[in-house]
Amino acid sequence: MIADASSKPAERRWQGLSVSEGLVLGRVLRIHRGTKHVYPARIEVGDVAREIKRFREAVDQAKTQLLAIKDRAANLMGQDHAYIFDAHLLMLEDRKLSEEIENFITRKRANAEWAVKVLGDRLLSVYAEIKDDYLRERGSDIEDVIHRVLEALSGERPAYLDLVEEAVIVSEDLLPSAVAELDLGHARAIVTDAGGWTSHTAIIARGLGIPAMVGLEDLCQHARTGDGIVVDSYNSEVVLHPSNATIAQCLAEIQRRAGARPAAPASGTGIALTSDGLQVRLRANVELPAEFAGVSKYGALGIGLYRSEFLLAQPGVMLSEEKQYRAYSEVAELAGENGAVVRLFDLGGDKGGDSVADSERNPALGLRAIRFCLLNETVLRTQVRAIIRAAAKGQLDIVLPMVADVSDVMRAREIITQERAKLEKENEDCGPVRVGAMIEVPSAVFTAEKIARVVDFFELGTNDLVQYVLAVDRSNDKVADWFRSLHPAVLESISRTLKAARDAAIPAIVCGEMASTPAYAVVLVGLGATDLSMTPSSIPRVTRVLNGIDSRDAVAIATECLACATADEVEEIVRERFLARWPQLFPPRTLPAKKTQQRVDHMQDRER
Ligand code: PEP
Ligand code: MG
Repeated sequence: MIADASSKPAERRWQGLSVSEGLVLGRVLRIHRGTKHVYPARIEVGDVAREIKRFREAVDQAKTQLLAIKDRAANLMGQDHAYIFDAHLLMLEDRKLSEEIENFITRKRANAEWAVKVLGDRLLSVYAEIKDDYLRERGSDIEDVIHRVLEALSGERPAYLDLVEEAVIVSEDLLPSAVAELDLGHARAIVTDAGGWTSHTAIIARGLGIPAMVGLEDLCQHARTGDGIVVDSYNSEVVLHPSNATIAQCLAEIQRRAGARPAAPASGTGIALTSDGLQVRLRANVELPAEFAGVSKYGALGIGLYRSEFLLAQPGVMLSEEKQYRAYSEVAELAGENGAVVRLFDLGGDKGGDSVADSERNPALGLRAIRFCLLNETVLRTQVRAIIRAAAKGQLDIVLPMVADVSDVMRAREIITQERAKLEKENEDCGPVRVGAMIEVPSAVFTAEKIARVVDFFELGTNDLVQYVLAVDRSNDKVADWFRSLHPAVLESISRTLKAARDAAIPAIVCGEMASTPAYAVVLVGLGATDLSMTPSSIPRVTRVLNGIDSRDAVAIATECLACATADEVEEIVRERFLARWPQLFPPRTLPAKKTQQRVDHMQDRER
């Protein structure tokens, strides 16, 4: 008993940013992003054989993965291009390198990770000095192979695939590729060291309806898979190694909240009707199959945004046309007669998904989204073919992410037209597909009138719009206080874009996280939005709020907001006017207040 008590690590608490509400008790499942943290550990003589065995098993595992990737690459791009993986396989089979690593483990009594890292780094430094450009660049292959072996050594990969019911995902940051690989349907909560309200970890967690916190700084460094953990996003707190008293308190609170929970909201029609008769369409944003049930459960009017990059579980490895075709057909069927908008792979930036992103100095401004697609034409053509074919099964449209101006649209449209012509020649079943543009960078806002002439619809990505208009990293919790969705420059950009769409008589769907926050949704309607797309579980509360307002009041308030000079002024107006007109719809905590309360304005207590 005494030994037990003393060996239990002391309880530790972290404060972070709550991005999806809830309270859970579970066990940590730590997910590594990359191989940044490799530490030396001195092992006992008796453990040397075990470390060598671990190293050999990791090499075998890496080989198995590489062979599978090589097969997939051969299917997608042809045998000629799959040879790159032969070079990686040869490195893994290099007896001399393996012997050196094993000798290092024996001589230095080092852990296998450290031996791989030290020997790998030595090899890399030799390559870095080679004069020949081609040979020098092979260094990146070595890096890749080292990375893969280290990942296999982490021993946590198999756990990914086998999530236990109580798993709380703890990570530095979650990339779509990691999310796609995890069986998140079984996760209890997600907590990450980095991130903000609009980071993808947050969006996914809200989509799955599980609690999430971001901005926990160094939690991942201290948590180990299997540790007990409490995630209390109502109080913005994470407790690692909770004491018995904390566990008892937490269980009592979970029980109290379960008793107070209201009945599940009735599924709506996907259309909100303001008291003066304005119709607002409410669609669903989806990323993962685990979220699909929410589309009909909450009565969404089809799928306003399908983030297709979440299909890609392996960084740098694309899915075959056939696999994509099956995935998009499923989305079309799920969406029903109101259809779905498939966004082309929005890779790069905070979405990672390709090794390129890691090597870019400024990934958010780099090879992201449509730029990535246009420079990787095979990838773009494969995806476009799969979507056009799946559109024969149900209504699907394509939206181009992060276009900067008309030329991005024209280049993509040309490829879409060519692929359709080829498919028709091949006698494949094809469906009609409209092409839209995501308006989410300033240059697209400034040229919105021109872009409107060459697309069939707009989608306003307010998450990126705020990021790029205000130059605030959406995934960096340190600048979360500068991420002001109600900044007058953001509102002006939204207003201008909606006007451009109206003038060109094309639809405009607002699909960023602003749409799922009731107070912001009212401002959006005041700015002229009539089509919103959001996390399905937000649809009932946004419907309830929009049904309770007069859109003419919303327009009057939005007009006042547009005349403001600062985000503080806008927030003050929103707070005062909303409280005066609709006190029953907006309890004070759901409205923006002073800057320090920015962080709670998105959250709405489900108990209300
Ligand atoms: C957005 O930027 O608002 C958006 C909808 O897309 P994502 O969050 O995936 O970048
Ligand atoms: Mg975006």
